[in-house]
Amino acid sequence: QLGDEDVDIGELLMSPLWLEEANPALPLPPALYGPAPARRNSEGIDLAVEPMRAPLLAALETTAVPGIEAFDAAGAPKAVVASAAAFRRWRKTPVEARAAMLRQAADALQRELPRFCALLVKEAFKTWGDAVAEVREAVDFLRYYADEAERIMQPVALPGPTGESNELRLTARGPWVCISPWNFPLAIFTGQVAAALATGNTVLAKPAEQTPAIALEAVKLLHAAGVPADALQLLHGPGETVGAALVAAAGVAGVVFTGSTQVARIIHRALAAKDGPIVPLIAETGGINAMLVDSSALPEQVVDAVVQSAFRSAGQRCSALRLLVLHDGIADAVIEMIRGAAGELTAGDPALLSTDVGPVIDGEAADNIRRHLKRLDSEAKRLLAPASSSTGGNLIAPQAYEVPSIDSVTSEIFGPVLQIARWGQGDLSDPAEVIERINALGYGLTLGIQTRIDSRAQALATRAHVGNIYVNRNIIGAVVGVQPFGGEGLSGTGPKAGGPHYLYRFCAEQTVTVNT
Ligand code: GLU
Repeated sequence: QLGDEDVDIGELLMSPLWLEEANPALPLPPALYGPAPARRNSEGIDLAVEPMRAPLLAALETTAVPGIEAFDAAGAPKAVVASAAAFRRWRKTPVEARAAMLRQAADALQRELPRFCALLVKEAFKTWGDAVAEVREAVDFLRYYADEAERIMQPVALPGPTGESNELRLTARGPWVCISPWNFPLAIFTGQVAAALATGNTVLAKPAEQTPAIALEAVKLLHAAGVPADALQLLHGPGETVGAALVAAAGVAGVVFTGSTQVARIIHRALAAKDGPIVPLIAETGGINAMLVDSSALPEQVVDAVVQSAFRSAGQRCSALRLLVLHDGIADAVIEMIRGAAGELTAGDPALLSTDVGPVIDGEAADNIRRHLKRLDSEAKRLLAPASSSTGGNLIAPQAYEVPSIDSVTSEIFGPVLQIARWGQGDLSDPAEVIERINALGYGLTLGIQTRIDSRAQALATRAHVGNIYVNRNIIGAVVGVQPFGGEGLSGTGPKAGGPHYLYRFCAEQTVTVNT
């Protein structure tokens, strides 16, 4: 359906979407296991999960979630001293040996995929499809950072005048505090830890207090693969006490954090207030992620992308779609289709193979989302039926609202809640202006663009202040080594996890000049 915009039919016919039909999508490179988009068989079981059905269900029976003891925050300074002592040995371990340990942990994790999936279902309420994708992502991080560390940590000879040799080399910094979230309790936890260890740093890992057992099991694999216990310490407990004490302790060489913008600011301030060396912070935070749809977009493709991006993982991804901006010419039709598609999703027990949307992480998260829903009920137009009697407790069925404007979306709702605004009329008839309004929200993590006009997609992408742009597809599930992930502005300090520049951020650099 082509609207009243200026569409070049020649260009339209040459756009990748049309070519794609003639060239079936290439499979992912074999070493990379990005989450496949959920597709379901006739029983409603995710096709990525279906071949593993028996081992997964067996693991659910046999896997217990171990009890965890919180670390006493008063011990933080001592833990950092132990980490600094371990650093003196670990930094001298050759990068190839460190990489071999990470690869060994990756192999073990791959072998133990059903058990880790069962833990993710039980402790983090992941659906099976999300759990499988997450274990694979953790495996990818281990292997990718092992390869990357070997690649970048070789000294580089630089040109110089006769009689002088110059060499540039990367060195480890020291003990890193790794603070990871509950929404990817295995993948992000493992990614942070692997990046720090691969580059020769030691680690004080503080996982989210909601998901300590998964972190414990991941650490056991790394220790079994040869990483010394004092080079990788696991310190459980609340961010406000244990996290804060670790960040404040003397001798910390860096902090990597994934979580809310608000907590990133607290950490940033705490680091700035410390005496001694200036400590770098890598922060990946949230987003008010938008998808701009023009009137040349394919409605079926848009709806599929929207449902995946807004509702998969119960919307508990930093990358998830929060704000859909539809061209007025197709808005009514697309909204109708979204209502139909969202109505097909099954919200329920994550242990059931047919569940699409599991519960959110805890009562506090659920209450917070419900508060936003109450506000939206009075400020916006509800598009989906209110939560049915089958949802309650921490289970929140997908919700969608039409809001008056882009600017009325001012906070990230970390759940399965989609807000929809329109463009194409009045003072908002230029898609570039839509991007400016999205930029003005201040976040900058993911952005979707749905158009069959190639040149427009490119022009809008250039204008957008975001880290990850997805054209004509969903906006979640960045694949390690394929879609380096991380945002700017209120969404983070910029480094791209799973990308070729990430490990540099964990290193110092040394130039050695010798008069020969
Ligand atoms: N990397 C994940 C994705 O692309 C999101 C990570 C997060 O939620 O922090 O969907």
